[in-house]
Amino acid sequence: MEVTEIRIKLVGDRDDKLRAFCTITFDGCFVVRDLKIIKGTRGAFVAMPSRKLTDVCTRCGGKNHLRARYCNECGTRLNPDRAERDEKGRAKLHADVAHPINQQYRDELQRRILDAFEDELDRAEMPGYTPPADDLSADHVHPPPPTTPKPQHDSDDPPPHSFGEGLLP
Ligand SMILES: [Zn+2]
Repeated sequence: MEVTEIRIKLVGDRDDKLRAFCTITFDGCFVVRDLKIIKGTRGAFVAMPSRKLTDVCTRCGGKNHLRARYCNECGTRLNPDRAERDEKGRAKLHADVAHPINQQYRDELQRRILDAFEDELDRAEMPGYTPPADDLSADHVHPPPPTTPKPQHDSDDPPPHSFGEGLLP
């Protein structure tokens, strides 16, 4: 499987932690959006697209984000420390929705994305820079084929035979 396109959308400025969003295309036919390029303490890294984890209120069954301090549905006070923790003791508040399943590919993908990010930063310095289109999928939307009107039968013609005609007395 080949990465056939990497699109970088720069956001914020050099002091912000979130530096860019990234959209990647595999084999020219499968798109993953909302990867993030984050400036960490040890350089930039790529965060996979993720969703916020939720849990269920013990009183009413309402769904709440793990950071929520009160239930959205019934207002019950929630334990602010209820998120599971990873091996480093950080609360697990998000789950990746698409991600490499081994370190080797994670490193390769990250390297390519960070290269594209650096290229985009260089391009952004050039006069007349235009950021890439927001919505990649819009490039691939084709208009529906024109509907051809059905040929009209001339009223003098005999009616077309219909299926099953003549089988029954
Ligand atoms: Zn509740």
